[in-house]
Amino acid sequence: MYKKNDIVTVTITDIGSEGEGIGRIDGYALFVKDAMVGDEVEARILKTKKNYAFARCEKIINPSTYRVEPVCKFHRSCGGCQIQAMDYQKQCAFKEQKVKNNLMRIGGFPEAFLDAIMEPIAYMDEPFHYRNKALFPIGTDKNGEVVAGFYAGRTHSIIANTQCALLAPETKPILEYILSFMKKYSIQAYDEVQHKGLVRHVLIRSGFTSGEIMVCLVINGKSFPYVKPFAEGLIKLQDVGSRIKSICFSTNMKKTNVIMGDSFQVIWGDEYITDQIGDVKFQISPLSFFQVNPVQTKRLYEQALEYANLTGEETVWDLYCGIGTISLSLAQKAKQVYGVEVIPQAIADAKQNAELNGFTNAEFMVGKAEEVLPKAYKEDAIYADVIVVDPPRKGCDERCLETMVSMQPKRIVYVSCDSATLARDLKYLCENGYKLEKVRPFDLFPMTVHVECVTLLQKI
Ligand code: SAH
Repeated sequence: MYKKNDIVTVTITDIGSEGEGIGRIDGYALFVKDAMVGDEVEARILKTKKNYAFARCEKIINPSTYRVEPVCKFHRSCGGCQIQAMDYQKQCAFKEQKVKNNLMRIGGFPEAFLDAIMEPIAYMDEPFHYRNKALFPIGTDKNGEVVAGFYAGRTHSIIANTQCALLAPETKPILEYILSFMKKYSIQAYDEVQHKGLVRHVLIRSGFTSGEIMVCLVINGKSFPYVKPFAEGLIKLQDVGSRIKSICFSTNMKKTNVIMGDSFQVIWGDEYITDQIGDVKFQISPLSFFQVNPVQTKRLYEQALEYANLTGEETVWDLYCGIGTISLSLAQKAKQVYGVEVIPQAIADAKQNAELNGFTNAEFMVGKAEEVLPKAYKEDAIYADVIVVDPPRKGCDERCLETMVSMQPKRIVYVSCDSATLARDLKYLCENGYKLEKVRPFDLFPMTVHVECVTLLQKI
């Protein structure tokens, strides 16, 4: 039996769901942070349980052939990229395997069946700089300098870094401008322990198609001083200044981990930037939800649309519709789309986006899918040819699945960000009159352990 701080030598044979390496010694499993499949490492035991222990990689004795030189020197301390040191092809293979394992273990689908219906993962040709949204905490370092960066794993101390490998390159000059402006005008960074200082976070959003940029400061105060020189300097920034369309601040004076305030004010320009996914335009405000990887999101929606196989005659329900991104892609090909979403502001955005694009065949409802759908089914005898769902990580509520089955749509397209709950829900649907036809994993978040899936079910 091992105890804390023991050093053991172990060969890593598997990858855990958080990207950690898994090795076994006489059947006893070790979950080793920062170790990779194929490594032989010296690991320090951090915490022991009856059948397994958590450990940390202390020394790599023999490196795995899947190891690559990470592009970011902070990849270990940051925690944003769990698997940046892994070859990208191997990352994708790992994600495919993770989906398949969950479908076998939790969904009960046979391996040979999955091999026949699973499509290869949709990977990125350029797996860096894919995020259109940057949120940087602002703080003060040991020397009293204002810094922007990221929180060191599980803490709230900020490590200075303005060059994240996942973000659009324009974030760097914008952040550097903000830091030098704060220094010049002696504007204090927020100190969360003392609950003092002004600037808490900087939000930068970029429209990858439109090129438009939004900068929003989250401040511990009701107003931002020096708005005029601040905005004038920003829009004059070389290369990026002319793309800035909106400069805002959002007041957040609470002692909280929630980043954004409840509202925002425009300092310069518009309240929103515009971007598009495929042919559909969206207005994005500082508080709107918008998919962070637009390149892969476009492909994901195209896949969902292909699986939905619409001819123009269908009535389609889009459950967990957010700001209506999937609903509006569907509306291009369907007779009528109904979207359901629990957050009222998202539904307000969805309606506005429908109008912006001139869709008259998309209707949106606020409420929980598991409440809105059964009620509409019982009271209004609603109908669906196709149902699309894109639930949060916990998957669909059983009342929602039950009603979907009762409605007997010809096809169900299930978009998922958690293959474990996906597998559980697919099992239910396949025990209740549906057949799993297709599964396609999507790499929406390269360098992280997350994987999305689009699946198609057909009524038997
Ligand atoms: N389809 C959208 C959003 C998917 S994220 C897109 O691609 O942009 C999942 C969404 O489900 C979130 O917007 C969340 O607010 C919403 N949600 C969470 N629980 C819900 C529930 N019980 N009923 C309806 N919507 C819910």
